[in-house]
Amino acid sequence: TQRAAYTLTLRGPRVRYGPGTARTDLTAELDRLHARRVLLVATTRARTAHQDVLAPVDGRIAGHVPTVRRHVPAEDARAAASLARDIEADLLLSLGGGSATGTAKAVAVETGLPIVALPTTYAGSEMTPIYGITEDGVKRTARSDRALPTTVVLDPELTADLPPELARTSAVNALAHATSGVFAAGHSPLTDLLAAGATRLLADGLQRTARADLTQGAQLAGTVLAHAGSSAHHTACHILGGAFDLPHAETHAALLPHTLAFLQQDRPDRAAALGVPDVAAMVSTLLDDVGASVRLREIGLDQARLGLAAELLASGVPDLDQARAAALVKEAW
Ligand code: NAD
Repeated sequence: TQRAAYTLTLRGPRVRYGPGTARTDLTAELDRLHARRVLLVATTRARTAHQDVLAPVDGRIAGHVPTVRRHVPAEDARAAASLARDIEADLLLSLGGGSATGTAKAVAVETGLPIVALPTTYAGSEMTPIYGITEDGVKRTARSDRALPTTVVLDPELTADLPPELARTSAVNALAHATSGVFAAGHSPLTDLLAAGATRLLADGLQRTARADLTQGAQLAGTVLAHAGSSAHHTACHILGGAFDLPHAETHAALLPHTLAFLQQDRPDRAAALGVPDVAAMVSTLLDDVGASVRLREIGLDQARLGLAAELLASGVPDLDQARAAALVKEAW
């Protein structure tokens, strides 16, 4: 068999997984990094909800950033970095979903401080060196080794209070990273295996609301995103989300079965790496079964804009011509 050339540099945090591990092992993880003056990045809700986790390290928390907003506004990142300097922080402790991790990443890029991440959703950001900052309404994403957390304490119990709706949307996002990862430019045999494993764990986890499967599936999916990159699916979500101000998570769910159908038709060899006969059909059925399926018409895309949407996709998504873009948008609508 002819096998494609690839370049892979493995880079990841130390991951300490286990139910209850955040409560029992956070002190040891901070000790390993000689952290004495910790800046906590967590909403007040998360800080209160996870008092039991934070209690053993309370004496080391020298400052708290409670402002955790989606897409990390630049002013938030600047304020948090300046607080980190004022209190002479030696470590950033993030506790929360992708937005809390993202805020800590922006501060780490600015200050060079290490991050210990305690994820409470299935976004998977804690496994990647990718960070985003939004200034003047424009979100800029970049990669930096400084943004990659040093340690991840991965504890499914931290997601116990995640409302089912949020659990579902963040798991579907992880599923998008996993399934579309085999089509990403940076794929390799290793990321293919991770993508197949993540797809299986996330699909099972979604069907049974099994938090441990979802937590581990999210970790694998984040690792795929970190090492393979994103694909035409993410490009399409970004284009339509930005142009029509559509909600982020729902746009993923609305497009995923259709972008996968397009990708799988073009690259059946790549789709086969997931070990599922027809991944587009599998995802479509799964989303229906778990009540996560959504149409573009339900999330604010007006029928009159379908032509424009197709045009934008055809000009922004590689290999998607006007006719196929129109068909894709129509189906997803
Ligand atoms: P989020 O962090 O914004 O959290 C969504 C909501 O759920 C928030 O209101 C949060 O306070 C709440 N929440 C979080 N955990 C909870 C819990 N256990 N119980 C109750 N409520 C809880 O959203 P997200 O889906 O975790 O992350 C999405 C963000 O992450 C996006 O901005 C996305 O761009 C980013 N992201 C980045 C990467 C990367 O590699 N850089 C990867 C994936 C996602």
